[in-house]
Amino acid sequence: MTVTKRIEVNAGKPYSVKIGKGLLDKTGEEAKALGLDGKALIISDDNVAALYIEKVSASLKEAGFEVFSFVIPHGEGSKSAENLIAILEFAAENSFSRTDTFFALGGGVVGDLCGFAASVYMRGANFVQLPTTLLAAVDSSVGGKTAIDLQAGKNLAGAFYQPKFVLCDTDTFDTLPDEEFSNGMAEVIKYGMFCDGEFLDILTENNTDIESIIARCVQIKAKVVEADEFDKGERMFLNFGHTVAHAVENLSSYTTPHGSAVAIGMAVITKAAIAMGKCENEALEILIELLKKYKLPFECPYGVDEVFEVTLKDKKNAHGKITLVIPTGKGESVLQKCDYNELKEIITLGLK
Ligand code: ADP
Ligand code: ZN
Repeated sequence: MTVTKRIEVNAGKPYSVKIGKGLLDKTGEEAKALGLDGKALIISDDNVAALYIEKVSASLKEAGFEVFSFVIPHGEGSKSAENLIAILEFAAENSFSRTDTFFALGGGVVGDLCGFAASVYMRGANFVQLPTTLLAAVDSSVGGKTAIDLQAGKNLAGAFYQPKFVLCDTDTFDTLPDEEFSNGMAEVIKYGMFCDGEFLDILTENNTDIESIIARCVQIKAKVVEADEFDKGERMFLNFGHTVAHAVENLSSYTTPHGSAVAIGMAVITKAAIAMGKCENEALEILIELLKKYKLPFECPYGVDEVFEVTLKDKKNAHGKITLVIPTGKGESVLQKCDYNELKEIITLGLK
């Protein structure tokens, strides 16, 4: 039997992340214990709602909440301004107040949209994250970044808004498609690569439970977020592999999943770091071993010119300098600011 793991995050008002089996059944109990009551709005997508919304709803009712739900279609297209407004209107029509609570039940799409809706509803309603994908569990549900996509690009409107608590029920991974699990593993490997060599060794073994793996990632993310809640420095380490990843996602018209793109991005930047003489070969060896193990790609299907051009067009890079996370060894990295010429050189070396 695995024990529920608990990690405290000291960002905004401190909150806890619990990871374990069967936790969705405890949603109501947890919320009540924190002093939440009144109305609950569960936001979920059609896939996840069909599997788990009843469980969450029953638990919240049991704890005395008046429960409402709003289900969006699955997929990135739902992180839209239309859905944001629809949720806000729905909450208002049902007389939600600021002391009521929005529950995000699903992956990153649901978490980002629901969190942003909670942050602006009456200037901030309560918000709870119930991640059901590995990617959301280790990454988007912790740290308080919420967003929707605009026509001009992904995540361009959003807010820093921390949840009241996060409950990650690992039983929900039983229904998660293998490809989605692999995607989450790319972000897991990322944590090892930028700061935790011992974790990389653990990941090469086969006997580690998923709760411990998630807990280690959340611990790392919590530390990084605590040091830099508003993304001005330290938090940039979380972007390891992401500069090239964003280009790959874009060039594939978003048909390459985020995790696969991050896997390719990590391989490219690690190869470049080795070619520049900044990193030990060992880092690339273990990275490739892990990417193979978790069925993730590592060859970039695009050329230097197109990757470079798309990176320049990325709205978030539009200020002359880009900060890259450069691996310096197994589980070690540094931040490096580079101009566009340096960036092109690095991409060229990584794609050789
Ligand atoms: P991510 O968490 O990777 O950002 P999404 O929120 O888009 O991505 O979720 C990925 C896909 O997995 C969606 O189609 C979603 O409906 C589905 N999904 C999420 N959680 C589960 C689950 N526990 N079981 C089955 N399908 C799930
Ligand atoms: Zn990512």
